[in-house]
Amino acid sequence: MSKKLFIETLGCAMNVRDSEHMIAELNAHEGYELTEDASSADLILINTCSVREKPVHKLFSELGVFNKLKKADAKIGVCGCTASHLGKEIIKRAPYVSFVLGARNVSKIADVLHRDKAVEIEIDYDESQFAFKDFRSSPYKAYINISIGCDKQCTFCIVPKTRGDEISIPADLIVAEARKAVENGAKEVFLLGQNVNNYGRRFSGENEKINFTELLRRVSAIEGLERIRFTSPHPLHMDDEFIEEFARNPKICKSMHMPLQSGSNEILKSMKRGYTKEWFLNRAAKLRSLVPDVSISTDIIVAFPGESDADFEDTLDVMKQVRFEQVFSFKYSPRPLTEAEGFTNSVDSEVGSHRLSALQAYQDTILDSISAAMLGKEVEVYFEELRSDGYVAGRSDNNAVVKVKGSEEWLGRIARVKITEVSRSVQYGEIVA
Ligand code: SF4
Repeated sequence: MSKKLFIETLGCAMNVRDSEHMIAELNAHEGYELTEDASSADLILINTCSVREKPVHKLFSELGVFNKLKKADAKIGVCGCTASHLGKEIIKRAPYVSFVLGARNVSKIADVLHRDKAVEIEIDYDESQFAFKDFRSSPYKAYINISIGCDKQCTFCIVPKTRGDEISIPADLIVAEARKAVENGAKEVFLLGQNVNNYGRRFSGENEKINFTELLRRVSAIEGLERIRFTSPHPLHMDDEFIEEFARNPKICKSMHMPLQSGSNEILKSMKRGYTKEWFLNRAAKLRSLVPDVSISTDIIVAFPGESDADFEDTLDVMKQVRFEQVFSFKYSPRPLTEAEGFTNSVDSEVGSHRLSALQAYQDTILDSISAAMLGKEVEVYFEELRSDGYVAGRSDNNAVVKVKGSEEWLGRIARVKITEVSRSVQYGEIVA
């Protein structure tokens, strides 16, 4: 009988892809098959996120639950960003954990599994072979890493300490992976990295030096591939060449993530983001002028240390001018190993909560008018998910979630849909072609 693997993945798309890599390696080298039942698993993995405080706190309570329900001889492994930053502390606090594997070290999963109490969290580790065995959780969309790590020094962010320096993955490997995914039926590839449009900055060995715009051109030349998405681009690297390729290349989906973080130049400086409010607005305006239907999403942190009412107003001003289609907003919480952890000018917690509510309420008014304007429009939707309520769901080219009444026959197909009912988070429609 095959061994069973239960895996829980928290956090971002990069973690989803890391989990896929670990599943593939464990299957190919150790014969593990996936299960959704942790109590029957021989190995339980938690792939953690440490960007915010909550999932880190949750980790130890979850570990306790898994320890109680697991089979007597089953192993528990902790992987990902929290594994990188807490390291052996995890085994100290939860001695039943068998091993700890950092986000930069996922390729060592089949090895670490056999070393009791192993802690592999080296961030200088240069994975000079990036080709993993293949596993995809969706047959329709393929996540593909194009770089690992991050060279930026944003003062609030723990990622450079958990994922290490930025290294670009050779372009020929990326194109080959995308081609294989398309041959296996995927119509969409999703290129992943902390700063995708900084691609090409550093390779691990002798490799052809190309930038992200050229990489997009090469991936889009793959026959049978219909859609390309990517995350996250950095506003600093949104040069004209990149925006113009985004606008003119029909395979690139017209949704752009532009992580603003703050609209105040003072706060942006203190965050070490490397751009100004004016630069950000200029880039967003260029995008909107070249691609009128583009949807722009963003991340915003409120109550960063030193944020005054006027700084907060600057953030609202950017929201007013850009009219983001989606905003992921958070109240600042200090993260370990970051520069901002030592900042002493923190904002009162209640003030922070108040600002967050005000910002979210303001975004809701923007969203209401954006979604109302979608009523009656026709959009191209790629259907990827069968819902239990008799709907199939997918995303429009510009990333709106769209549901239509239908069955699995629509899965993996792109269809034209007329929007008949709208809400802030999902649009409903009818297939017209
Ligand atoms: S760019 Fe900044 S926020 Fe993004 S991963 Fe790098 S350090 Fe973190």
